[in-house]
Amino acid sequence: MTGTNWAGNLTYHATALHQPGSIEELSALVAAAPSARALGSRHSFNAIADTTGVQISVAGLPPVVEVDAAAREVTVSAGLRYGELVEELDQAGWALHNLASLPHISVAGAIATGTHGSGDRNGSLASSVAGLELVTADGTVRSVRRGDPDFDGMVVSLGLLGVVTKVTLDIIPTFQIRQDLYEGVPWESIETDLDAITGSAYSVSLFTDWGAGGAGQAWVKSRADAAPREEFFGARPAARQLHPLPGEQADVATTQLGAAGPWWDRLPHFRLGFTPSNGEELQTEYLVPREHALEAIRAVRALAPRVQPHLLISEIRTIAADALWLSPSHSVGCLAIHFTWRMHVPEVTALLPVIDAALAPCAARPHWGKVFETAPQRLLEAYPRIPDLRALADRLDPEQTFANRLTSHWLSR
Ligand SMILES: Cc1cc2nc3c(=O)[nH]c(=O)nc-3n(C[C@H](O)[C@H](O)[C@H](O)COP(=O)(O)OP(=O)(O)OC[C@H]3O[C@@H](n4cnc5c(N)ncnc54)[C@H](O)[C@@H]3O)c2cc1C
Repeated sequence: MTGTNWAGNLTYHATALHQPGSIEELSALVAAAPSARALGSRHSFNAIADTTGVQISVAGLPPVVEVDAAAREVTVSAGLRYGELVEELDQAGWALHNLASLPHISVAGAIATGTHGSGDRNGSLASSVAGLELVTADGTVRSVRRGDPDFDGMVVSLGLLGVVTKVTLDIIPTFQIRQDLYEGVPWESIETDLDAITGSAYSVSLFTDWGAGGAGQAWVKSRADAAPREEFFGARPAARQLHPLPGEQADVATTQLGAAGPWWDRLPHFRLGFTPSNGEELQTEYLVPREHALEAIRAVRALAPRVQPHLLISEIRTIAADALWLSPSHSVGCLAIHFTWRMHVPEVTALLPVIDAALAPCAARPHWGKVFETAPQRLLEAYPRIPDLRALADRLDPEQTFANRLTSHWLSR
């Protein structure tokens, strides 16, 4: 046994956790393993990182943060958590285009599942991957670059193609962000002005419990030179620092109230210095093409009485399209509907097919790192490049060393 995931809702079945200190050691380990899974920072809520063989962490490989200013790229060791590289990057004058709500997740784990932040013009974190180095099942070290054949299948890989050791990311000049929060966005505004709301800033998140009052909070992250708004689509400016969950300690959240600060200290919702303990929560998230956004919101609102007893909070955000085969925002800009659940495992498990059925008409794609119940046939409809990934995995990993029960179910492999 190798412990639990971050949320503690599952215990991994792996027989051992290896943390090689060199690429040579990693190659030998992979080549000898009949069954293996790479393990990142354990933040996924489902068994995607589990195996009955061995888990391999790349967190012990020598740390690398190498900026290539001319190419506007940074190459980082795959096991680094975003929070461990952002300040160094900032000090060198550079930034990543976006971050997830939490900076504590590993780069390789985030990109393997298509993790994203928010913003109409911001693609997922995986969309900024310009290159990868990975060790495939036979122990070979391979490098791939954007534009190479199959590259678009290799980034959001669900860990099926090998152990990623280095990731090259696009960078942009560093920038400052201000974060303004507004309280009480009515459903009427969301119905009439959704595109204007999500397009009103660099990154916008709406938090709701699906109650009659609409979105209790809007988190609006703008470039520092943007003028603050007195009013936000019927919502009032927050007069104090807030946590997405009413009543929770707000000092764990990144600085609000319009104070400008570096991108890495404003784009996540939670502060880097705040170390989350095991979270008493589960998460589910679906991404729907923008054309179905309101239909999807209405479908979840109709489920409010069933959802609310088990919900801590929902977040609504947007993600730009990318070309990556298994990305939840593959080829189309999306609205994401996220659920942070109470740790009500049986009740949430029973609700998952209900939510999936409600969102299926909206061509909803589940987030690979969270809990969901979607039949393989529907996954195939939502993710039409699944057969291409399967073929790529068959080529790079013919013995299915990196498959596990969950990925084989999803991919009907
Ligand atoms: C509190 C919290 C907040 C979150 N916020 C967001 C959010 O804002 N947006 C969002 O989209 N998601 C969010 N997530 C989900 C999270 O980003 C994903 O679950 C992500 O995959 C976690 O990364 P990890 O390093 O913990 O990966 P793990 O859970 O350890 O592994 C996930 C997958 O990545 C693969 N993997 C890990 N390392 C490697 C490697 N070196 N090579 C190949 N494959 C590898 C694993 O095999 C597995 O398939 C959140 C999760 C939590 C717990």
